[in-house]
Amino acid sequence: MGLPTITFSLALGTVIMETVDDFDTIDVELDEFFKHKQRSRCKDEFLNTLTDEALDECTVPEINLNDFEGMSEDEAPQEKQSDSEGEDEDKLQFQYSTHDLKVKWNNMKPVLGERYESPHQLKLCFTNYSLSRGYPIRFKKCDSVRLLAVCASDPEKFQCPFVVRASWMSTERSFQIKKMVEQHTCVRNFRSANLMDATWIARQFLKEMIRKPNVKCKEMQAIIQRRFHCKVSWSKFYRAKCRAISLIDGKLSDHYANAIKEGWKVGCQRVIGLDGSELLTAIGRDANDHVYPIAWVVVEIDNKPNWQWFLELLHDDLELQGGLNLCVISDQHKGLLEDVKVVLPHVEHRQCARHVYANFRKVFSGIEFKNMFWTVAKSTVEGDFELNMEKIREVNPAAYDHLMAREPKSWCMTFFKSGMACEAVENRMAECFNAIILDARKKPLLAMLEEIRLYMMEMLFNLKKEACKWVNNVCPGPIKKMDEFAFDIN
Ligand SMILES: [Zn+2]
Repeated sequence: MGLPTITFSLALGTVIMETVDDFDTIDVELDEFFKHKQRSRCKDEFLNTLTDEALDECTVPEINLNDFEGMSEDEAPQEKQSDSEGEDEDKLQFQYSTHDLKVKWNNMKPVLGERYESPHQLKLCFTNYSLSRGYPIRFKKCDSVRLLAVCASDPEKFQCPFVVRASWMSTERSFQIKKMVEQHTCVRNFRSANLMDATWIARQFLKEMIRKPNVKCKEMQAIIQRRFHCKVSWSKFYRAKCRAISLIDGKLSDHYANAIKEGWKVGCQRVIGLDGSELLTAIGRDANDHVYPIAWVVVEIDNKPNWQWFLELLHDDLELQGGLNLCVISDQHKGLLEDVKVVLPHVEHRQCARHVYANFRKVFSGIEFKNMFWTVAKSTVEGDFELNMEKIREVNPAAYDHLMAREPKSWCMTFFKSGMACEAVENRMAECFNAIILDARKKPLLAMLEEIRLYMMEMLFNLKKEACKWVNNVCPGPIKKMDEFAFDIN
């Protein structure tokens, strides 16, 4: 395996050859040590006279630090199995404790035998321990397979024996402290500023940052000095502040994204308008027929792979079940058409009639054509559709052919599936949204996204305020529509 390294263990006055193998054999030693501890306790006659609870208690390993005193590192506590009676008792189960993340940072402490998720988690525990107790710690080795921490005090002056070794367990995927001398003979010096990385500082200041987002680096520096008695460079603070901001923003945007997602699922019509070139948008429509932006994303270009990526995220987040009982309205972008078929195979894909008309008008302009087109698009019965198309043919057969070649099934109301509670033939929702963000779109990327976010927050807040005033269970929009419908019938 790896090359042997030489460790000067000055406290013990010996030179120990240490190889990587140490980290492998250490497993067995540790297990033996705990078994030994447990066995010797359970043999205790007094303990055996106590209740079951007391016996249970002895299965939790408890380390007496004195056991390690005067022992060289290689003389790990272990037990030789000299007789047969050990066999049965091996089956006694002991459990290594698991690192508890809920413990407050300044109460965190490495414990022999304790299991961690990763070397990184243990390192964080060390950092907290060192910074809260004021003892200096140095990581002699810290990689993906093992960790060796020693005291960082002057070895000649203090000969501090503190040492911790940890590696992955052989029986399970947990990172474990295999050897530990917890005692320090050095003095506390609170000089562990190097252990504080930007992320650590950011986490310390998260609450303060939420309360006071404009906190100055200088103020943070003063607080750290007071709280941890150590100095940290200005540049590290700057990085910490950026990190804290992104941590907070991440939490907030998750929060809003979830709110929008849930809002769409419970309160919107089963229709999504897709639109966009560099800013791809998915816009919904709430029960009151109001525009409800669901998601928006900036891409370099609106090509097939980008649309597919966007649609897949949308599909997973909104649990669209392949587009079952859903309708999508968009223009006839070729890549988009294909992607919708792949990601949402069951969806009813409507073509925005306004786009169809825009193309139609290029060749067949005029008010008569315009009115005839919209009559066709809004025909609700197949007979009407045929009749209205015939009228166009009478005026100009080429216009008829032009429209028939544009798949009327995707833009004429006659052919829409019933039960969607959505009669839209045009992608007006997406266009409304585009109009709203017209000003924002002129701004640089981040400013634009920020403005859209603020707009959304305000809009959702106002909608909620408005909805609180409603007296019926049915929104005013549909009620108004029903009234108009009743009026027409009368
Ligand atoms: Zn020390």
